[in-house]
Amino acid sequence: MRTVLVIGGGLGGLTTAYRLGSHASVTAFEAQPRPGGNLRTTTSAGGFRVEWGPNGFLDGKPATLQLCRDLGLGGQLVAASEGSRTNRYVYWNGAIEKLPGGPMGLLTTPLLSLRGKLELLAEPLRRRSRAGSPDESVRAFATRRMGKEAATVFMEALVTGVHAADPGKLSVRAAFPRLAAFEADAGSILRGVLRSGKAKRREAEARGEKSPPQRMWSFPGGLQTLVDALRDRLADTLVSGAAAKRLERRPDGRWRLTTDAGVHDADAVVLTCPAHEQARLLADTDSALANELAGIGSNRIAVVALGYRAADAPALDGFGYIAPISLRRDAIGVQWCSSIFPDRAPPGFVLWRALCGGELRPELVDLDDDTLVRRVHAEMRATMKVTGDPVFTQVVRWPRAIPQYHLGHLDRVARIDAAVARLPGLFVTGNAFKGVAMNDVVEQAGLTAARVLTMPAPPP
Ligand SMILES: Cc1cc2nc3c(=O)[nH]c(=O)nc-3n(C[C@H](O)[C@H](O)[C@H](O)COP(=O)(O)OP(=O)(O)OC[C@H]3O[C@@H](n4cnc5c(N)ncnc54)[C@H](O)[C@@H]3O)c2cc1C
Repeated sequence: MRTVLVIGGGLGGLTTAYRLGSHASVTAFEAQPRPGGNLRTTTSAGGFRVEWGPNGFLDGKPATLQLCRDLGLGGQLVAASEGSRTNRYVYWNGAIEKLPGGPMGLLTTPLLSLRGKLELLAEPLRRRSRAGSPDESVRAFATRRMGKEAATVFMEALVTGVHAADPGKLSVRAAFPRLAAFEADAGSILRGVLRSGKAKRREAEARGEKSPPQRMWSFPGGLQTLVDALRDRLADTLVSGAAAKRLERRPDGRWRLTTDAGVHDADAVVLTCPAHEQARLLADTDSALANELAGIGSNRIAVVALGYRAADAPALDGFGYIAPISLRRDAIGVQWCSSIFPDRAPPGFVLWRALCGGELRPELVDLDDDTLVRRVHAEMRATMKVTGDPVFTQVVRWPRAIPQYHLGHLDRVARIDAAVARLPGLFVTGNAFKGVAMNDVVEQAGLTAARVLTMPAPPP
């Protein structure tokens, strides 16, 4: 049986190890005492349940939902509230405004001037970019397609919410491949969205089902439930608190890994740790590959959770609001956690989570807890009109939060893939390459596990 070492016990590593299952002899190493990486949920003594990283996952791609079902967690899944799906807000012109939900909403929204609306409506009439044209930033792409106003309000809200990135540097093809494909295939984003919606409805009808809207999912106990289930399934496989220190390719083509837990030889090694760690581990084997990996940077984010008395906060039925990143607000996004999922706050209280920093305000992450909480609370007074002080606060810092897919990212990933292919038995996956959302990470982990299992057998 093939021996495989998986490095990193975040969602990518745990899923890879789980998908390899009993088809290989697998050992997975996680540097921290607890697995999960970005996924972690804690509950305070007072009953505030805080997600440290992701708040939930979407079902637009089936990967994570399927993983949960395969783990036997299907019955525990909980969908986000209906209000959080339809009521999403943006901070604009000093106020929180609801994002339009459809074409009529676009016509009447106060978020765009008449000129901005006309420019957006003209999107299907604009020429598509020429095939073979160079990579384009999200800002350049959106401005070219829908005009400056809609690009700033809507696309920046999207960029801020998913990547907390600089829209002038983020590659549209790498970060939003569907949008780029809509232009390439349908000649227009609006036409592409309509066509893809129609196709989905037709497929669902063919199955005798109704096409449900995209939902966000989690568990009553938060995403920790998923981590715990994977950890339990991998009880004989996962070694936590064991950082990979050194990786060598042996003259016989096998891989030798030195970790805090000892020295291990294997036929294959799957790197799922962050790109800078992958770079460090591969520096001796292939310095050019290591340089490419090191070139994928990450932003910095602080998550500030605030619990308020419900009487001091507005009654809410929605997801939260985004402040487009170029406004440089202290909070670039605020999620109304207790309005999205039940049991996030004790009765009579609400729990919100502000995201601070991102690519344009990294210095905020260095503020001490008290200052950060004070600044976010001041923001909540201004934007959310809270009248009382928070009764619960928690700050989580992510010094390397979300990999940034800058211009040229897809070419870099192609060079990485080519270099990895020249090193039999080496595999890389995780959120640094082909999508940062949980679904992307789970999907890529499954594909990587399949490639490991079908790799050619080593020569005798
Ligand atoms: C604040 C925040 C909010 C987010 N919100 C959402 C959301 O709402 N929805 C969504 O879909 N996605 C969200 N994401 C993105 C998503 O959570 C991540 O992309 C995904 O969890 C990354 O998984 P991963 O396994 O690739 O990386 P990580 O989670 O970074 O895991 C890598 C693991 O490798 C370990 N490691 C590092 N070095 C070594 C070493 N030398 N040896 C062994 N182990 C090592 C680390 O300790 C870590 O556990 C969010 C991310 C953040 C930070």
